[in-house]
Amino acid sequence: MNIQVLGAHNCESQNSRLISLLIDDTIAIDAGSLTSSLSFSAQQRLKAILLTHQHYDHIRDIPAIAMNFALHSASTTINIYSIQSVYDTLATHLLNGKLYPKFLEQPQGNPTIKFTIVEPYQAEQIEGYDILAVPVNHTGPAVGYQVTSPDGKIALYTGDTGPGLADCWEHVSPQLLIIEVTAPDKYEEFAKEKGHLTPSLLKEELTVFRELKGYLPPVVVVHMNPRLEKEIETEIATVAKTLNNSINLGYEGMQLNL
Ligand SMILES: [Zn+2]
Ligand SMILES: [Zn+2]
Repeated sequence: MNIQVLGAHNCESQNSRLISLLIDDTIAIDAGSLTSSLSFSAQQRLKAILLTHQHYDHIRDIPAIAMNFALHSASTTINIYSIQSVYDTLATHLLNGKLYPKFLEQPQGNPTIKFTIVEPYQAEQIEGYDILAVPVNHTGPAVGYQVTSPDGKIALYTGDTGPGLADCWEHVSPQLLIIEVTAPDKYEEFAKEKGHLTPSLLKEELTVFRELKGYLPPVVVVHMNPRLEKEIETEIATVAKTLNNSINLGYEGMQLNL
């Protein structure tokens, strides 16, 4: 399994993109930088897009990619998978016929977006991959996705989450963990209130993981605030040393191979 980090951040600039991962060129998770990172032909190769939650930085490129598919040919469709609240947000606020076309419904009979609601803890077969949505702790409904490739490689991406992931850990067994750290330790109160992690909060979650599962996979951190990234990097290095585990910061263009 090859995972490419298309966007690794929570704020966009010329040098930082919003969160998006691409698995084996066929499955994307989160849509913060799909259209800005991928050529038209690479977008066309996507078989499915999984969305973790409804926040703008994770769904931003859905209208854009739907338009690209719709204008490619009227019969070209894209499969999107997520929880009910994400469907409702897209239908109500973005693809509502005012802000942008109703790609969830049109063209009639064969809408550009084929949206499938996923239920937490119910394994779903998507393009030969085993996909498990697991609830995480954010400000609204949110899930992470454990992705198992046809040859048995397992990666987990949490999406945005705050502390308290013991229940999540019980349901997963990743060989690679991609998890968020949005801000450095001095923002702990903000992180707890908004459902995010700092390096110290990550350390606590990884400690619980190791206690429950008896191991720790390599960890890649994403969703950093670019302007706080130096501080995050320094603090993450300390956590990695303390836990004696590989923890790296993700970056645009990073390739992970399992
Ligand atoms: Zn969020
Ligand atoms: Zn976010």
